[in-house]
Amino acid sequence: MPKGTDITEQNGTFQKGLSINPKKFKDQYRTAEGKKRAKVSFNGLETLWFNTGSLCNITCTGCYMESSPRNDFLSYLNLSEVNYFIEEALKNKFPLKKVAFTGGEPFMNPQILEIIEAVLNKQLPILILSNGMKPFLNRRHNLLKLKKKYEEKFSIRISIDHYNQLKHQKIRGDKSWDPMMKGLRWLAKHGFTLSVAARNCWDETELQTREGYHKLFKKENISVDSFNPSQLVLFPEMNKTLDVPEITSDCFDILQKRPEDLMCASSRMIIKRKGAAKPVVVPCTLLPFSRTFEMGSTLSSASKSVYLNHPHCAKFCVLGGGSCTTN
Ligand code: SF4
Repeated sequence: MPKGTDITEQNGTFQKGLSINPKKFKDQYRTAEGKKRAKVSFNGLETLWFNTGSLCNITCTGCYMESSPRNDFLSYLNLSEVNYFIEEALKNKFPLKKVAFTGGEPFMNPQILEIIEAVLNKQLPILILSNGMKPFLNRRHNLLKLKKKYEEKFSIRISIDHYNQLKHQKIRGDKSWDPMMKGLRWLAKHGFTLSVAARNCWDETELQTREGYHKLFKKENISVDSFNPSQLVLFPEMNKTLDVPEITSDCFDILQKRPEDLMCASSRMIIKRKGAAKPVVVPCTLLPFSRTFEMGSTLSSASKSVYLNHPHCAKFCVLGGGSCTTN
């Protein structure tokens, strides 16, 4: 997953002291220069994300979710809440291709196995993002049973911040490599459909990065093609100390980008804020904190255009080119 925002967004404001011009990202429809802000039309729900809760077993440097063993800003979603949105998507015949789970660490959620099985039971393919460590390892035998039952519909993406152990540990902590590798080897050995999420924040080219992972996967006999962008997903770093341009309606043509390729054109994510009576829908995995991006408590209410009124829209999606959307 991409990294690098600030926790004060949990209150709907950007952190003081950042070098983002305070006049930017104020008006939903206009930039600070008065130009029409870019928007992304909704093309139908293809990927439904659930943030299963912000708690994580580790604290990574620069985690964009600020996930940690103590940050419960986003509560655990429960089975009936997940079922509610799945039923809504099916009832309304949304063109759903995949249901995806992120966190925090999804395997920390006490009901994750029931949730996964309920979705698989609806014949929907799933993707789970995980750090591959203890919460995952503790549930691996139950996962294997699910995998045997729903073979083709089950995929897991493991986060490896760098193919070099020391660099990975620099972000994730001293004891983070060995358990992750244990999880990765186990998944490969049992034939799970695997992908890996990595950071593009090191002083090297994309080719060097992909070659580095290629050597690691070959050595460890891991069935991930590091040269395939959907199998090794590289996320650009989002440096929160840098100013960023606002995206106007002309930008897509100038940059020769297609708005329909952005995550918010075909994805939505469900989150539940701590203390909230029920979950809400947000446009993508990148904006769980900003209340101005909340789109109501149903998928139908969230079936509308998104105005790119956030630094992440520029830094990560339009200029950085990253996407959590799955193939
Ligand atoms: S962060 Fe990216 S995916 Fe999310 S609303 Fe902005 S442009 Fe869309």
